[in-house]
Amino acid sequence: MLSHVVDSVLLAAAGAGIQPLLGVGFVPVLHVERLQDDDSFARVLEFCRTYEVMTSRRAISTVITPLAPILANELLSVGFSHQAYMGRIAAVAEHSDIGLHGHFLRCPVESRRPVHNYWSDSGLVAKQMREESSWLETHGLMRTRVYSGGWWHLNRSVVAALVANGFEFDFTPSVGRYNDSPTARFHRRGSPNPALFEMAPGLHGAWAVSGICGSPRISAVPRRTLAAFGGGVRGAGRVVTLYSHDWDMDVPSAVRTLQDLQSHGAHFLSLGELASMRAVGSTTKER
Ligand SMILES: [Zn+2]
Repeated sequence: MLSHVVDSVLLAAAGAGIQPLLGVGFVPVLHVERLQDDDSFARVLEFCRTYEVMTSRRAISTVITPLAPILANELLSVGFSHQAYMGRIAAVAEHSDIGLHGHFLRCPVESRRPVHNYWSDSGLVAKQMREESSWLETHGLMRTRVYSGGWWHLNRSVVAALVANGFEFDFTPSVGRYNDSPTARFHRRGSPNPALFEMAPGLHGAWAVSGICGSPRISAVPRRTLAAFGGGVRGAGRVVTLYSHDWDMDVPSAVRTLQDLQSHGAHFLSLGELASMRAVGSTTKER
C-alpha cells in the first residue's frame, strides 16, 4: 500500500522532470509460439525491426521449435512444414537474438492444467531442452543459450536442466503470477531484485514485471515496475525484462510503452550488455 503511494508520488513527479526509472535497463523478451500464423510472424518482425531502429539494440525472441510436441502437433494440423517454420525463425533471427521458450507438454492434452504433467518428470524436460537447443544451434539460430519458461514454469528441476544444458540466461523469474505453480513457490524464496542475479552456477536471471503491451494506459508499465520493487529501482545496474507473446502483441502499443519507459528515465539493454554486466560481477546472488 505504502509502495503504491510512493509510486504515485514518483510518477506524478515524473511530470515535473524527475525520472523514477533512471538507470534501469529494460530487455524485451518475446515468447514466440505461433510463427506458422502470418499475423504473428508479421508482428514479431515488425516489433523487432522497430525496436532495433529505436534503441540500436536487438530484442530477445525465445522460440518454441518444431521438436516440441505441442508445436509439432499444431504444425501437422495446419500442414505447415518444419522447414518453413525454421525459415521463419531465421527471419526473426535477422532482427533479434534467439533463445528457447520451453513448453514440454506431451500430446494429446490430458489436463486442464497441462503444465502439471511434466512437473515430476525432469528427465523429459532436460532431454527436450537439449534437443531443441541443439536444433537451434545446428541451424545457426541461437548464439547464446537463453531461456524463458512456458506458463512461467520454473522449479529446481528446470533450473538443474538449464545448468546441465549450459544455459547462460533465464528470463522466467516473475512476480505476481496467476497460479500456484512451483514457479511462484520458487520465487517466494527471495525478494525480487531489479538486477541481473545468479540463479545457479553459470546461470543468470532477471525479473519480468510486466507485459510490453496490453494496457493502453500510459505509465502502466513504469507503475508496475515501481510497485514490484517497492519503488527502489533507481541506480545503475538495474535490469528488468518485459514480455509479450507473438500472437497477442499490439506493436504500436508496445512501442508507446517503450517510449513511456524512456520518458521515465529507463534505457534498453542488449544481450551483449547483459553478458558484460555478468562478466564484471555487477550481479546479485540469489539466496
Ligand atoms: Zn509460452
